[in-house]
Amino acid sequence: MTASSPSASLSPAVAAVLADIGDVPVLTDRVAVRRRSRDFFWYSPILNAELNGLSAEAIARPRDEADVVAVAGACARHGVPLTVRGGGTGNYGQAVPLKGGILLDMTALDAVEWVKPGAVRVQAGKNILALDMETRESGWELRMHPSTKRTATIGGFIAGGSGGVGSVSYGGLREPGNLHAVRVVTVEETPRILELRGNDAQVVNRAYGTTGIITALELPLAPAFAWVDVIVAFDDFMDAAAFGLALANADGITKKLVTPISWPLPSFFPALGEACPEGKHLLVAMIAPHSLESFKALLSLHTGVQTYEAPSDESATATPLYEYAWNHTTLQVLKVDRGVTYLQCLYPADRVLASVAEIRALFGDEVIPHLEFIRFNGRITCSALPVVRYTTPERLNEIIDIHEAHGVFIANPHVFTLEDGSRHKRVDADQLGFKQSIDPRGLLNPGKMRTFVPVA
Ligand code: FAD
Repeated sequence: MTASSPSASLSPAVAAVLADIGDVPVLTDRVAVRRRSRDFFWYSPILNAELNGLSAEAIARPRDEADVVAVAGACARHGVPLTVRGGGTGNYGQAVPLKGGILLDMTALDAVEWVKPGAVRVQAGKNILALDMETRESGWELRMHPSTKRTATIGGFIAGGSGGVGSVSYGGLREPGNLHAVRVVTVEETPRILELRGNDAQVVNRAYGTTGIITALELPLAPAFAWVDVIVAFDDFMDAAAFGLALANADGITKKLVTPISWPLPSFFPALGEACPEGKHLLVAMIAPHSLESFKALLSLHTGVQTYEAPSDESATATPLYEYAWNHTTLQVLKVDRGVTYLQCLYPADRVLASVAEIRALFGDEVIPHLEFIRFNGRITCSALPVVRYTTPERLNEIIDIHEAHGVFIANPHVFTLEDGSRHKRVDADQLGFKQSIDPRGLLNPGKMRTFVPVA
Protein backbone atom coordinates (compact mmCIF):
# COMPACT_ATOMS: atom_id res chain seq x y z
CA MET A 1 0.00 0.00 0.00
CA THR A 2 1.38 3.45 -0.94
CA ALA A 3 -0.37 5.32 1.84
CA SER A 4 0.85 8.79 2.72
CA SER A 5 -2.07 9.67 5.00
CA PRO A 6 -2.83 7.50 8.03
CA SER A 7 -5.12 4.54 7.42
CA ALA A 8 -6.76 5.46 10.77
CA SER A 9 -8.73 8.02 8.70
CA LEU A 10 -10.27 5.16 6.70
CA SER A 11 -13.62 3.72 7.68
CA PRO A 12 -13.37 0.21 9.20
CA ALA A 13 -15.03 -1.35 6.13
CA VAL A 14 -12.59 0.25 3.66
CA ALA A 15 -9.64 -0.65 5.90
CA ALA A 16 -10.93 -4.25 5.88
CA VAL A 17 -11.05 -4.25 2.05
CA LEU A 18 -7.48 -2.96 1.85
CA ALA A 19 -6.33 -5.63 4.30
CA ASP A 20 -8.16 -8.24 2.21
CA ILE A 21 -6.66 -7.45 -1.22
CA GLY A 22 -3.07 -8.39 -0.57
CA ASP A 23 -0.51 -6.59 -2.72
CA VAL A 24 -2.92 -4.84 -5.10
CA PRO A 25 -1.48 -1.28 -5.41
CA VAL A 26 -3.49 1.22 -3.38
CA LEU A 27 -3.43 4.98 -2.89
CA THR A 28 -4.88 6.56 0.26
CA ASP A 29 -3.34 10.03 0.16
CA ARG A 30 -6.39 12.17 0.76
CA VAL A 31 -5.53 14.96 -1.67
CA ALA A 32 -4.67 12.56 -4.51
CA VAL A 33 -7.79 10.45 -3.89
CA ARG A 34 -9.98 13.55 -3.83
CA ARG A 35 -8.47 14.87 -7.05
CA ARG A 36 -9.04 11.61 -8.90
CA SER A 37 -12.58 11.29 -7.56
CA ARG A 38 -13.56 14.17 -9.86
CA ASP A 39 -14.40 14.34 -13.56
CA PHE A 40 -15.64 17.17 -15.79
CA PHE A 41 -18.98 17.60 -13.94
CA TRP A 42 -17.98 21.22 -13.35
CA TYR A 43 -19.15 21.96 -16.93
CA SER A 44 -22.57 22.04 -15.29
CA PRO A 45 -23.14 24.67 -12.60
CA ILE A 46 -25.94 22.45 -11.27
CA LEU A 47 -23.76 19.33 -10.95
CA ASN A 48 -20.90 21.43 -9.64
CA ALA A 49 -23.05 22.43 -6.67
CA GLU A 50 -24.23 18.85 -6.13
CA LEU A 51 -21.01 16.86 -6.59
CA ASN A 52 -18.15 19.12 -5.58
CA GLY A 53 -16.20 17.62 -2.67
CA LEU A 54 -17.47 14.05 -3.03
CA SER A 55 -14.65 11.55 -2.83
CA ALA A 56 -13.69 7.91 -2.45
CA GLU A 57 -11.65 6.92 0.59
CA ALA A 58 -9.00 5.01 -1.34
CA ILE A 59 -7.95 4.15 -4.87
CA ALA A 60 -7.12 0.59 -5.93
CA ARG A 61 -5.03 0.25 -9.08
CA PRO A 62 -5.32 -3.33 -10.37
CA ARG A 63 -2.42 -4.61 -12.47
CA ASP A 64 -4.45 -7.36 -14.12
CA GLU A 65 -7.84 -9.05 -14.09
CA ALA A 66 -6.92 -11.15 -11.03
CA ASP A 67 -6.43 -7.89 -9.07
CA VAL A 68 -9.84 -6.66 -10.30
CA VAL A 69 -11.41 -9.88 -9.02
CA ALA A 70 -9.63 -9.46 -5.67
CA VAL A 71 -10.96 -5.92 -5.20
CA ALA A 72 -14.49 -6.74 -6.40
CA GLY A 73 -14.72 -9.75 -4.07
CA ALA A 74 -13.39 -7.83 -1.07
CA CYS A 75 -15.83 -4.95 -1.66
CA ALA A 76 -18.72 -7.44 -1.88
CA ARG A 77 -17.68 -9.22 1.31
CA HIS A 78 -17.27 -5.99 3.29
CA GLY A 79 -20.19 -4.07 1.72
CA VAL A 80 -18.00 -1.27 0.33
CA PRO A 81 -19.06 0.90 -2.65
CA LEU A 82 -16.84 0.50 -5.73
CA THR A 83 -16.65 3.07 -8.51
CA VAL A 84 -14.69 2.32 -11.70
CA ARG A 85 -12.55 5.03 -13.28
CA GLY A 86 -10.83 5.23 -16.65
CA GLY A 87 -9.43 8.61 -17.70
CA GLY A 88 -11.91 10.57 -15.56
CA THR A 89 -13.07 12.69 -18.52
CA GLY A 90 -16.81 12.04 -18.13
CA ASN A 91 -19.09 15.05 -18.08
CA TYR A 92 -21.81 14.23 -15.60
CA GLY A 93 -19.96 12.98 -12.54
CA GLN A 94 -20.19 9.49 -13.99
CA ALA A 95 -16.98 8.41 -12.24
CA VAL A 96 -17.58 10.44 -9.07
CA PRO A 97 -18.15 8.15 -6.07
CA LEU A 98 -21.38 9.42 -4.50
CA LYS A 99 -21.03 7.15 -1.47
CA GLY A 100 -17.28 7.06 -0.83
CA GLY A 101 -15.69 3.62 -0.77
CA ILE A 102 -13.07 2.50 -3.30
CA LEU A 103 -12.23 4.03 -6.68
CA LEU A 104 -10.95 1.41 -9.13
CA ASP A 105 -8.37 2.95 -11.49
CA MET A 106 -8.34 0.72 -14.58
CA THR A 107 -5.52 2.42 -16.48
CA ALA A 108 -2.91 -0.30 -15.86
CA LEU A 109 -5.02 -2.84 -17.79
CA ASP A 110 -3.80 -1.55 -21.12
CA ALA A 111 -2.77 -4.49 -23.31
CA VAL A 112 -4.00 -4.98 -26.86
CA GLU A 113 -4.87 -8.72 -26.96
CA TRP A 114 -5.12 -8.97 -30.76
CA VAL A 115 -5.82 -6.98 -33.92
CA LYS A 116 -7.44 -8.69 -36.91
CA PRO A 117 -8.68 -7.15 -40.15
CA GLY A 118 -11.71 -5.12 -39.00
CA ALA A 119 -11.60 -5.90 -35.27
CA VAL A 120 -9.57 -5.46 -32.09
CA ARG A 121 -9.62 -6.99 -28.62
CA VAL A 122 -8.16 -4.75 -25.93
CA GLN A 123 -8.08 -4.36 -22.16
CA ALA A 124 -10.46 -1.73 -20.85
CA GLY A 125 -7.94 0.71 -19.37
CA LYS A 126 -6.15 1.31 -22.67
CA ASN A 127 -5.77 4.96 -23.61
CA ILE A 128 -7.71 5.54 -26.85
CA LEU A 129 -4.93 7.37 -28.71
CA ALA A 130 -2.44 4.64 -27.79
CA LEU A 131 -4.92 2.01 -28.99
CA ASP A 132 -5.43 3.82 -32.28
CA MET A 133 -1.67 4.06 -32.81
CA GLU A 134 -1.33 0.29 -32.35
CA THR A 135 -4.16 -0.68 -34.71
CA ARG A 136 -2.84 1.77 -37.33
CA GLU A 137 0.28 -0.35 -37.63
CA SER A 138 -1.86 -2.89 -39.48
CA GLY A 139 -3.88 -0.32 -41.44
CA TRP A 140 -6.94 -0.09 -39.17
CA GLU A 141 -8.34 2.53 -36.80
CA LEU A 142 -11.25 2.85 -34.38
CA ARG A 143 -14.51 3.62 -36.15
CA MET A 144 -15.12 6.46 -33.72
CA HIS A 145 -13.58 8.10 -30.70
CA PRO A 146 -14.51 10.90 -28.30
CA SER A 147 -12.77 14.25 -28.71
CA THR A 148 -11.00 13.26 -25.45
CA LYS A 149 -9.14 10.55 -27.39
CA ARG A 150 -5.79 11.66 -25.99
CA THR A 151 -6.84 11.28 -22.32
CA ALA A 152 -9.80 8.84 -22.15
CA THR A 153 -9.77 5.03 -21.93
CA ILE A 154 -11.59 2.69 -24.26
CA GLY A 155 -13.51 1.11 -21.36
CA GLY A 156 -14.63 4.54 -20.15
CA PHE A 157 -15.79 5.42 -23.67
CA ILE A 158 -18.04 2.34 -23.86
CA ALA A 159 -19.29 2.71 -20.27
CA GLY A 160 -19.77 6.48 -20.36
CA GLY A 161 -19.64 7.86 -23.90
CA SER A 162 -22.10 7.99 -26.76
CA GLY A 163 -20.16 8.54 -29.98
CA GLY A 164 -17.99 11.22 -31.47
CA VAL A 165 -15.41 11.67 -34.21
CA GLY A 166 -16.38 9.03 -36.78
CA SER A 167 -20.10 8.94 -35.89
CA VAL A 168 -20.88 10.84 -39.10
CA SER A 169 -20.01 7.60 -40.90
CA TYR A 170 -20.70 4.86 -38.34
CA GLY A 171 -23.39 6.24 -35.99
CA GLY A 172 -23.18 6.16 -32.22
CA LEU A 173 -21.76 3.52 -29.90
CA ARG A 174 -25.20 2.00 -29.44
CA GLU A 175 -25.77 1.31 -33.14
CA PRO A 176 -25.80 -2.44 -33.83
CA GLY A 177 -22.31 -3.68 -34.70
CA ASN A 178 -20.32 -0.98 -32.92
CA LEU A 179 -19.54 -3.19 -29.89
CA HIS A 180 -18.76 -6.86 -30.48
CA ALA A 181 -18.10 -8.24 -27.00
CA VAL A 182 -17.07 -7.41 -23.44
CA ARG A 183 -15.55 -9.31 -20.57
CA VAL A 184 -16.86 -8.22 -17.15
CA VAL A 185 -16.11 -9.01 -13.53
CA THR A 186 -19.12 -9.21 -11.21
CA VAL A 187 -19.28 -7.69 -7.72
CA GLU A 188 -20.13 -10.72 -5.61
CA GLU A 189 -18.37 -12.39 -2.68
CA THR A 190 -16.88 -14.78 -5.22
CA PRO A 191 -16.81 -12.69 -8.40
CA ARG A 192 -17.55 -14.31 -11.75
CA ILE A 193 -15.91 -13.40 -15.04
CA LEU A 194 -18.44 -13.20 -17.87
CA GLU A 195 -17.84 -12.97 -21.62
CA LEU A 196 -20.82 -11.17 -23.16
CA ARG A 197 -21.11 -11.17 -26.94
CA GLY A 198 -23.38 -9.44 -29.45
CA ASN A 199 -26.64 -8.12 -28.01
CA ASP A 200 -25.70 -9.40 -24.54
CA ALA A 201 -22.77 -6.96 -24.46
CA GLN A 202 -25.18 -4.02 -24.64
CA VAL A 203 -25.85 -4.25 -20.89
CA VAL A 204 -22.59 -2.38 -20.25
CA ASN A 205 -22.98 0.15 -23.06
CA ARG A 206 -23.31 3.59 -21.44
CA ALA A 207 -24.32 2.10 -18.08
CA TYR A 208 -21.84 4.31 -16.18
CA GLY A 209 -20.03 1.25 -14.82
CA THR A 210 -23.08 0.12 -12.81
CA THR A 211 -23.43 -3.24 -14.58
CA GLY A 212 -20.02 -4.85 -14.10
CA ILE A 213 -16.34 -4.02 -14.30
CA ILE A 214 -15.26 -4.23 -17.94
CA THR A 215 -11.80 -5.76 -18.22
CA ALA A 216 -11.65 -6.31 -22.00
CA LEU A 217 -13.60 -5.35 -25.12
CA GLU A 218 -13.87 -6.40 -28.73
CA LEU A 219 -14.59 -3.57 -31.13
CA PRO A 220 -14.94 -3.19 -34.89
CA LEU A 221 -12.32 -1.19 -36.79
CA ALA A 222 -12.38 0.91 -39.95
CA PRO A 223 -9.68 1.35 -42.62
CA ALA A 224 -7.15 3.91 -41.31
CA PHE A 225 -6.54 7.16 -43.19
CA ALA A 226 -4.09 10.04 -42.76
CA TRP A 227 -6.91 12.47 -41.99
CA VAL A 228 -6.73 16.06 -43.15
CA ASP A 229 -8.15 18.82 -40.92
CA VAL A 230 -10.04 21.51 -42.84
CA ILE A 231 -11.92 24.68 -41.92
CA VAL A 232 -14.38 26.59 -44.11
CA ALA A 233 -15.68 30.06 -43.15
CA PHE A 234 -19.23 31.26 -43.92
CA ASP A 235 -21.04 34.59 -43.62
CA ASP A 236 -24.25 32.89 -42.55
CA PHE A 237 -24.46 30.07 -39.99
CA MET A 238 -27.29 28.37 -41.87
CA ASP A 239 -25.05 28.19 -44.98
CA ALA A 240 -22.42 26.40 -42.85
CA ALA A 241 -25.14 24.01 -41.62
CA ALA A 242 -26.42 23.42 -45.18
CA PHE A 243 -22.92 22.61 -46.44
CA GLY A 244 -22.44 20.36 -43.40
CA LEU A 245 -25.60 18.46 -44.27
CA ALA A 246 -24.55 18.11 -47.92
CA LEU A 247 -21.10 16.86 -46.88
CA ALA A 248 -22.51 14.45 -44.31
CA ASN A 249 -24.92 13.08 -46.92
CA ALA A 250 -22.18 12.72 -49.57
CA ASP A 251 -21.52 9.00 -49.12
CA GLY A 252 -18.72 9.06 -51.70
CA ILE A 253 -16.64 11.49 -49.63
CA THR A 254 -14.69 9.76 -46.84
CA LYS A 255 -14.88 11.95 -43.73
CA LYS A 256 -14.64 11.60 -39.98
CA LEU A 257 -15.95 14.91 -38.67
CA VAL A 258 -18.51 17.47 -39.93
CA THR A 259 -18.98 20.28 -37.40
CA PRO A 260 -20.70 23.65 -37.99
CA ILE A 261 -19.80 26.18 -35.27
CA SER A 262 -21.50 29.57 -34.95
CA TRP A 263 -19.68 32.85 -34.38
CA PRO A 264 -18.73 34.07 -31.72
CA LEU A 265 -17.53 30.61 -30.58
CA PRO A 266 -14.54 30.71 -33.01
CA SER A 267 -13.37 33.88 -31.21
CA PHE A 268 -12.41 31.48 -28.37
CA PHE A 269 -10.03 29.55 -30.69
CA PRO A 270 -7.09 32.04 -30.77
CA ALA A 271 -4.55 29.33 -31.65
CA LEU A 272 -6.30 28.84 -35.01
CA GLY A 273 -5.53 32.45 -35.95
CA GLU A 274 -6.52 33.47 -39.47
CA ALA A 275 -8.41 30.24 -40.02
CA CYS A 276 -11.17 31.85 -37.93
CA PRO A 277 -11.93 35.21 -39.58
CA GLU A 278 -13.69 37.80 -37.41
CA GLY A 279 -17.48 37.37 -37.46
CA LYS A 280 -17.49 34.21 -39.62
CA HIS A 281 -19.22 30.92 -38.84
CA LEU A 282 -17.14 27.77 -39.32
CA LEU A 283 -17.46 24.32 -40.75
CA VAL A 284 -14.74 22.15 -39.23
CA ALA A 285 -14.13 18.76 -40.88
CA MET A 286 -11.76 15.81 -41.17
CA ILE A 287 -11.45 14.47 -44.71
CA ALA A 288 -9.52 11.48 -46.08
CA PRO A 289 -6.73 12.58 -48.46
CA HIS A 290 -8.28 10.76 -51.44
CA SER A 291 -11.54 12.71 -50.90
CA LEU A 292 -10.11 16.23 -50.65
CA GLU A 293 -10.70 16.99 -54.33
CA SER A 294 -14.32 15.84 -54.11
CA PHE A 295 -14.73 17.83 -50.89
CA LYS A 296 -13.58 20.99 -52.70
CA ALA A 297 -15.83 20.24 -55.65
CA LEU A 298 -18.81 20.00 -53.30
CA LEU A 299 -17.76 23.19 -51.53
CA SER A 300 -17.66 25.03 -54.87
CA LEU A 301 -21.45 24.60 -55.01
CA HIS A 302 -21.79 26.38 -51.65
CA THR A 303 -20.84 29.83 -50.34
CA GLY A 304 -17.99 29.08 -47.89
CA VAL A 305 -14.30 29.97 -48.21
CA GLN A 306 -11.73 27.40 -47.11
CA THR A 307 -9.34 28.94 -44.54
CA TYR A 308 -7.34 25.96 -43.28
CA GLU A 309 -5.98 22.60 -44.40
CA ALA A 310 -3.35 20.51 -42.59
CA PRO A 311 -2.71 16.87 -41.68
CA SER A 312 -4.45 16.06 -38.40
CA ASP A 313 -1.66 16.17 -35.81
CA GLU A 314 -2.12 14.25 -32.55
CA SER A 315 1.42 14.71 -31.25
CA ALA A 316 1.85 16.01 -27.70
CA THR A 317 2.64 19.61 -28.69
CA ALA A 318 -0.11 19.94 -31.33
CA THR A 319 -3.89 20.34 -31.12
CA PRO A 320 -5.83 18.21 -33.61
CA LEU A 321 -8.89 19.97 -34.98
CA TYR A 322 -11.22 17.49 -33.28
CA GLU A 323 -10.22 19.18 -30.01
CA TYR A 324 -12.34 22.12 -31.19
CA ALA A 325 -15.31 19.82 -31.86
CA TRP A 326 -17.72 17.68 -29.81
CA ASN A 327 -17.50 18.68 -26.17
CA HIS A 328 -14.16 20.37 -26.69
CA THR A 329 -15.94 23.34 -28.28
CA THR A 330 -17.53 24.04 -24.89
CA LEU A 331 -14.17 23.52 -23.16
CA GLN A 332 -12.45 26.09 -25.40
CA VAL A 333 -15.07 28.65 -24.32
CA LEU A 334 -15.02 27.63 -20.64
CA LYS A 335 -11.26 28.21 -20.54
CA VAL A 336 -12.02 31.93 -20.88
CA ASP A 337 -15.64 32.38 -19.80
CA ARG A 338 -16.98 30.36 -16.84
CA GLY A 339 -20.42 31.93 -17.23
CA VAL A 340 -21.51 29.41 -19.85
CA THR A 341 -22.61 25.81 -19.90
CA TYR A 342 -24.01 23.49 -22.59
CA LEU A 343 -26.71 21.08 -23.73
CA GLN A 344 -26.72 17.83 -25.71
CA CYS A 345 -29.36 17.87 -28.46
CA LEU A 346 -30.55 15.49 -31.14
CA TYR A 347 -32.34 17.12 -34.08
CA PRO A 348 -35.10 15.36 -36.06
CA ALA A 349 -33.63 13.77 -39.22
CA ASP A 350 -36.64 14.60 -41.38
CA ARG A 351 -36.38 18.39 -40.93
CA VAL A 352 -32.91 18.95 -39.61
CA LEU A 353 -32.07 22.36 -41.14
CA ALA A 354 -35.55 23.79 -40.54
CA SER A 355 -35.34 22.67 -36.95
CA VAL A 356 -31.85 24.16 -36.45
CA ALA A 357 -33.08 27.49 -37.87
CA GLU A 358 -36.20 27.41 -35.68
CA ILE A 359 -34.25 26.81 -32.44
CA ARG A 360 -31.63 29.41 -33.36
CA ALA A 361 -34.30 32.06 -33.86
CA LEU A 362 -35.83 31.30 -30.44
CA PHE A 363 -32.78 31.97 -28.30
CA GLY A 364 -30.44 34.45 -30.02
CA ASP A 365 -27.15 34.85 -28.11
CA GLU A 366 -28.37 32.86 -25.11
CA VAL A 367 -27.89 29.52 -26.93
CA ILE A 368 -25.06 29.61 -29.49
CA PRO A 369 -25.23 26.76 -32.02
CA HIS A 370 -22.56 24.12 -32.44
CA LEU A 371 -23.74 21.11 -34.48
CA GLU A 372 -22.25 17.67 -35.01
CA PHE A 373 -23.51 15.76 -38.04
CA ILE A 374 -23.96 12.07 -37.28
CA ARG A 375 -25.65 8.96 -38.59
CA PHE A 376 -28.54 7.92 -36.35
CA ASN A 377 -30.50 4.78 -37.14
CA GLY A 378 -29.07 4.85 -40.66
CA ARG A 379 -30.08 8.46 -41.38
CA ILE A 380 -28.00 11.61 -41.32
CA THR A 381 -29.07 14.14 -38.74
CA CYS A 382 -27.23 16.33 -36.32
CA SER A 383 -26.63 16.24 -32.67
CA ALA A 384 -25.62 19.53 -31.12
CA LEU A 385 -23.70 20.78 -28.14
CA PRO A 386 -24.74 24.44 -28.06
CA VAL A 387 -23.00 26.78 -25.65
CA VAL A 388 -25.60 28.22 -23.28
CA ARG A 389 -25.25 31.47 -21.36
CA TYR A 390 -26.14 30.33 -17.83
CA THR A 391 -28.42 32.32 -15.56
CA THR A 392 -30.50 30.06 -13.28
CA PRO A 393 -31.42 26.35 -13.03
CA GLU A 394 -35.04 27.33 -13.78
CA ARG A 395 -34.09 29.08 -17.03
CA LEU A 396 -31.85 26.16 -18.04
CA ASN A 397 -34.74 23.74 -17.55
CA GLU A 398 -37.02 26.10 -19.47
CA ILE A 399 -34.54 26.10 -22.38
CA ILE A 400 -34.55 22.28 -22.31
CA ASP A 401 -38.37 22.21 -22.30
CA ILE A 402 -38.55 24.63 -25.23
CA HIS A 403 -36.17 22.44 -27.27
CA GLU A 404 -38.26 19.35 -26.54
CA ALA A 405 -41.50 21.16 -27.33
CA HIS A 406 -40.01 21.86 -30.77
CA GLY A 407 -39.09 18.22 -31.38
CA VAL A 408 -35.41 18.45 -30.41
CA PHE A 409 -34.50 15.73 -27.93
CA ILE A 410 -32.21 16.71 -25.04
CA ALA A 411 -29.91 14.24 -23.25
CA ASN A 412 -29.70 16.34 -20.10
CA PRO A 413 -26.05 16.82 -19.09
CA HIS A 414 -27.02 18.49 -15.79
CA VAL A 415 -28.13 15.30 -14.02
CA PHE A 416 -26.01 12.39 -12.81
CA THR A 417 -28.36 9.37 -12.95
CA LEU A 418 -28.72 7.13 -15.98
CA GLU A 419 -32.48 7.52 -15.92
CA ASP A 420 -32.59 11.32 -15.84
CA GLY A 421 -30.02 11.65 -18.61
CA SER A 422 -31.72 9.16 -20.92
CA ARG A 423 -34.22 9.72 -23.69
CA HIS A 424 -37.15 7.92 -22.03
CA LYS A 425 -36.17 8.85 -18.48
CA ARG A 426 -35.67 5.22 -17.60
CA VAL A 427 -32.86 2.71 -17.63
CA ASP A 428 -32.99 -0.24 -20.07
CA ALA A 429 -34.85 -3.21 -18.53
CA ASP A 430 -31.96 -5.47 -19.56
CA GLN A 431 -29.43 -3.33 -17.74
CA LEU A 432 -31.56 -3.18 -14.59
CA GLY A 433 -32.15 -6.95 -14.59
CA PHE A 434 -28.50 -7.71 -15.34
CA LYS A 435 -27.39 -5.51 -12.47
CA GLN A 436 -29.55 -7.51 -10.05
CA SER A 437 -27.64 -10.64 -11.04
CA ILE A 438 -24.08 -9.30 -10.99
CA ASP A 439 -24.18 -6.65 -8.24
CA PRO A 440 -27.00 -7.74 -5.90
CA ARG A 441 -25.98 -5.33 -3.11
CA GLY A 442 -25.80 -2.36 -5.47
CA LEU A 443 -22.16 -1.56 -4.68
CA LEU A 444 -21.06 -0.57 -8.19
CA ASN A 445 -21.16 3.21 -8.60
CA PRO A 446 -24.13 3.48 -6.19
CA GLY A 447 -26.66 6.24 -6.85
CA LYS A 448 -26.14 6.37 -10.62
CA MET A 449 -28.88 3.84 -11.47
CA ARG A 450 -31.68 5.49 -9.53
CA THR A 451 -34.34 2.80 -10.00
CA PHE A 452 -32.13 -0.09 -8.83
CA VAL A 453 -33.24 -1.66 -5.55
CA PRO A 454 -30.62 -3.90 -3.89
CA VAL A 455 -31.62 -7.55 -3.62
CA ALA A 456 -29.70 -8.11 -0.39
P1 FAD B 1 -14.35 7.91 -17.11
O1 FAD B 1 -14.76 9.35 -17.08
O2 FAD B 1 -13.25 7.51 -16.22
O3 FAD B 1 -15.61 6.99 -16.80
C1 FAD B 1 -16.82 7.17 -17.50
C2 FAD B 1 -17.83 6.18 -16.94
O4 FAD B 1 -17.45 4.86 -17.29
C3 FAD B 1 -17.92 6.17 -15.42
O5 FAD B 1 -19.24 5.93 -15.03
C4 FAD B 1 -17.04 5.01 -15.00
O6 FAD B 1 -17.47 4.45 -13.77
C5 FAD B 1 -17.26 4.05 -16.14
N1 FAD B 1 -16.11 3.18 -16.44
C6 FAD B 1 -14.85 3.57 -16.80
N2 FAD B 1 -14.09 2.48 -17.04
C7 FAD B 1 -14.87 1.40 -16.84
C8 FAD B 1 -14.67 -0.02 -16.90
N3 FAD B 1 -13.48 -0.53 -17.24
N4 FAD B 1 -15.70 -0.84 -16.57
C9 FAD B 1 -16.90 -0.34 -16.22
N5 FAD B 1 -17.15 0.99 -16.13
C10 FAD B 1 -16.16 1.84 -16.44
N6 FAD B 1 -17.98 11.67 -24.88
C11 FAD B 1 -18.35 11.17 -26.08
O7 FAD B 1 -19.04 10.15 -26.13
N7 FAD B 1 -17.97 11.79 -27.24
C12 FAD B 1 -17.20 12.90 -27.25
O8 FAD B 1 -16.82 13.38 -28.32
C13 FAD B 1 -16.82 13.46 -25.99
N8 FAD B 1 -16.09 14.61 -25.94
C14 FAD B 1 -15.73 15.10 -24.73
C15 FAD B 1 -14.97 16.28 -24.66
C16 FAD B 1 -14.60 16.82 -23.43
C17 FAD B 1 -13.76 18.07 -23.39
C18 FAD B 1 -14.99 16.17 -22.23
C19 FAD B 1 -14.58 16.71 -20.89
C20 FAD B 1 -15.74 15.01 -22.28
C21 FAD B 1 -16.11 14.46 -23.52
N9 FAD B 1 -16.84 13.26 -23.60
C22 FAD B 1 -17.23 12.78 -24.81
C23 FAD B 1 -17.11 12.48 -22.40
C24 FAD B 1 -15.93 11.52 -22.07
O9 FAD B 1 -14.69 12.14 -22.34
C25 FAD B 1 -15.94 10.25 -22.89
O10 FAD B 1 -17.14 9.58 -22.79
C26 FAD B 1 -14.77 9.32 -22.54
O11 FAD B 1 -14.74 8.27 -23.45
C27 FAD B 1 -14.85 8.73 -21.14
O12 FAD B 1 -13.70 7.90 -20.97
P2 FAD B 1 -12.90 7.91 -19.59
O13 FAD B 1 -11.87 6.84 -19.67
O14 FAD B 1 -12.42 9.25 -19.24
O15 FAD B 1 -14.06 7.45 -18.60
